[in-house]
Amino acid sequence: MNYPRLDIKLDTIKNNVFEVNKLCNNHGIKVTGITKVFCATPEIVQAYIDGGLDRVGDARIENLKKISKFKLEKWLIRVPSLSQIKDVVSYCDVSLNSEVDTIIAINKEAIIQNKIHKVILMVDLGDLREGFINIEDLLETKSKITKLSNVKLYGIGTNLSCFSFIMPSREKMDNLKKIASQLNQENIIISGGNSSSINLMLDGGIPQSINNLRLGESLLFGKERCTYTYLKNTKSNAFILNAEIVEIKDKPSIPWGTVGVDSYGKKPKKPVNQGIIKRCILAIGKLDCDIETMHPIDKGIKILGASSDYLIVQILYNKEYKVGDIIQFELGYFSLMRAMNSDYVIKNYI
Ligand SMILES: *Cc1c(COP(=O)(O)O)cnc(C)c1O
Repeated sequence: MNYPRLDIKLDTIKNNVFEVNKLCNNHGIKVTGITKVFCATPEIVQAYIDGGLDRVGDARIENLKKISKFKLEKWLIRVPSLSQIKDVVSYCDVSLNSEVDTIIAINKEAIIQNKIHKVILMVDLGDLREGFINIEDLLETKSKITKLSNVKLYGIGTNLSCFSFIMPSREKMDNLKKIASQLNQENIIISGGNSSSINLMLDGGIPQSINNLRLGESLLFGKERCTYTYLKNTKSNAFILNAEIVEIKDKPSIPWGTVGVDSYGKKPKKPVNQGIIKRCILAIGKLDCDIETMHPIDKGIKILGASSDYLIVQILYNKEYKVGDIIQFELGYFSLMRAMNSDYVIKNYI
């Protein structure tokens, strides 16, 4: 076996998707499965389908391109770039938008490709990321869309807890619903946000007309994102990273010599002096994972830090490890993102 290796448990993902989707359906909400954190690899997209989804979304058009053979409704969930409009029309059915010029460009290209492209208008409800702030502006854009031949208004949406970490609330959802009613269009999608809206949904804080959520993290890890509580019947261990020990030695817990600055120009924090400790170097680094969103499965191991290519851990009480042994980590969101994007990490679907 080669390392580092990421084990991906497809059955666990499928089960999580099934459970979270059921939960949302019971609240009148249809799920768009977000695929960006795993670069829309077809194996995991298939697990989304097996779990019951027929709609997926990704922030990168390159990822949607990879899954063009799947019969799914595909959403581009990052506001499209003017330079990529051709691919936007070719590889996705729906896109989230906030600029009328972009929508006009989409219409032009859709005419060329003889396609109808669906548009979801984004509303900024306080997180200060993408979306209309001014409702007049939004309504004006809507009436412009009505005049375009190959673009259709599909709905409105909002995104929260992403840039300013503003949490979804009953008030914000009521506001979104009100804005949707001003559009004067039947059967529209009202997309109430990402995994951070699940808690509100469970507390009954999402009004009935909100009929869509765009979910990534909660499907993959079985967690809602506001308070990080685990959802019923889901598992958070679908992704296990295996890294190999390349050095294991007793060394001091504090470095010696004059301390300079780290790669960010900051003075590093001085570690606590624990005398001599068992330090272990693994052949994996910041390029492949994120130490703040991963934890060793063996409770006798503590992460000390990482550089681009090395991860350094302390062996607290299990003395059995030796060079060549494998240490396993359960991954969270950002670690998974790095591991999936690293060509150095072998992906093992199980
Ligand atoms: C990433 C993203 C999501 C999914 O977020 P999760 O927290 O993974 O559920 C939804 N909508 C947009 C616009 C996104 O960029």
